Amino acid sequence: MTDALVLIDPSASSLELADLGSAQLPVDDLSAHRGDGIFETVLVRVDEPSGDAVVVARDRHFARFRDSASALDLPDPDPALWNRALDTVIAEVRAQDPESREFGVRYTFSRGLDSPRGWAFGVPIGEAVLRARAEGISAISLDRGYDAYLGGKAPWLLIGAKTISYAINQAAGRYAAERGADEALFVSHDGIVLEGPTSNLIIRRGDRLLTPDPAAGLLWGTTQRLIFDHAGELGLGADYADLRLDDIRTADGAWFVSSMRTAVALTSLDGAPISRDDALTRALQQIIGTG
Ligand code: PLP
Repeated sequence: MTDALVLIDPSASSLELADLGSAQLPVDDLSAHRGDGIFETVLVRVDEPSGDAVVVARDRHFARFRDSASALDLPDPDPALWNRALDTVIAEVRAQDPESREFGVRYTFSRGLDSPRGWAFGVPIGEAVLRARAEGISAISLDRGYDAYLGGKAPWLLIGAKTISYAINQAAGRYAAERGADEALFVSHDGIVLEGPTSNLIIRRGDRLLTPDPAAGLLWGTTQRLIFDHAGELGLGADYADLRLDDIRTADGAWFVSSMRTAVALTSLDGAPISRDDALTRALQQIIGTG
């Protein structure tokens, strides 16, 4: 992969290209030892035949970034500055790897120490993601440890903000892997299906797509919203709903969706097979490819 890193100084509204392989962050930065910051990861695709780089759901990602900043009382990020950073990373990745057709860019806003700081860098689409898109994945359900719809009563939990504190999400992934599953599926303590550690869940029931209500206690995904925007073109309705594990087990198809993986079929849950709808898997991936 390429070495494309941009450091962002929000107080000076300035950017600087830097070396991804070298130390850039003071160890006392509050992101490093408190996880005190926010981030977004966007998918970039190169359009054929124009050759233009397209950031999938660029504005929705940035709107969520602003909402996350507000939830953490960080300064409102300036869209012009952050878009310039994004475009600089994209240009740098493409200059270093002109054949690249698809990659990610992660941009992060840290509390910093004396003042907030940001950075953005290119991320490759890994082999595991390509395999998951083609073959689907298995998951086990895990208790998220709080009841559904808690976020409104406990805003300090930052449920629904995309913070960089992902240690629990990473631990859930390892816990699933140790038990032979590819992914975890979080369920609220009172039995409402929430999301994966880095993805949302969509199921098909007949001619409707269903996904958990973000207010139940999860991150409102840009990919899920993009799919819902286009569901009508596939002859499908699209609704938010409280789902239980039985609804997933008996679905006509289920998918983990997120920016980098796009749409990945969930083929088994807690060891039991889930109906596959390969045609719809391709159609959902196509939506994101052109979205
Ligand atoms: N839920 C969580 C916890 C995530 O980390 C992510 C993405 O990183 C998602 C859902 C999916 O969001 P998006 O489709 O915007 O990538």
